[in-house]
Amino acid sequence: MMATTHVFAGLAVVAPVAYAVPKLAIPLAIGAICGGLAPDFDIVLEHRRTFHAPVLGAPVTALAVAAALLVPTAVTAGFAAAAVAAWLHSASDALGGGPEMDPWNHRSERAVYDHVRSRWLRPRRWVRYDGAPEDAALAVGLAVPGLLVFDGWISAAIVGGVALSIGYALVRRRLVAWTPDWLE
Ligand SMILES: [Zn+2]
Repeated sequence: MMATTHVFAGLAVVAPVAYAVPKLAIPLAIGAICGGLAPDFDIVLEHRRTFHAPVLGAPVTALAVAAALLVPTAVTAGFAAAAVAAWLHSASDALGGGPEMDPWNHRSERAVYDHVRSRWLRPRRWVRYDGAPEDAALAVGLAVPGLLVFDGWISAAIVGGVALSIGYALVRRRLVAWTPDWLE
């Protein structure tokens, strides 16, 4: 799934909380955006393993959410939102395809790493690859709750992210041909 899909999923989850507690809206949104993006920074390390924690992330996320409920401050709310978005990102990577550029030619059976059982989870391919038409549709759908609840720069960023997602999906399959061999 696209980075934007992961960010919109995080924002969709925190949107009802932000609606109920408007003074925490900004830290919740910042947390969801950072948490949605963060796992993929392992692309320079071991992608979908180093910063992805689909199983191990669940108890950590539960603790962060419990802390935010017990002591609701901007910091705990932001941290809980980041944990939820990052865990959702890691877990949902198992529902997509592998990390390969051209899954229609090369199929990988490694979706995301489970640190608890020390093995790779296989891709379910509900979303066949990042930037697939179903990924773009999912991104647009997940962007809606955030657009309804947040305003200012956050809603502007969501609109920009939607435009970027649709543009990326339109050129996604051509990107492989444009990518030089040494980069693949
Ligand atoms: Zn990922």
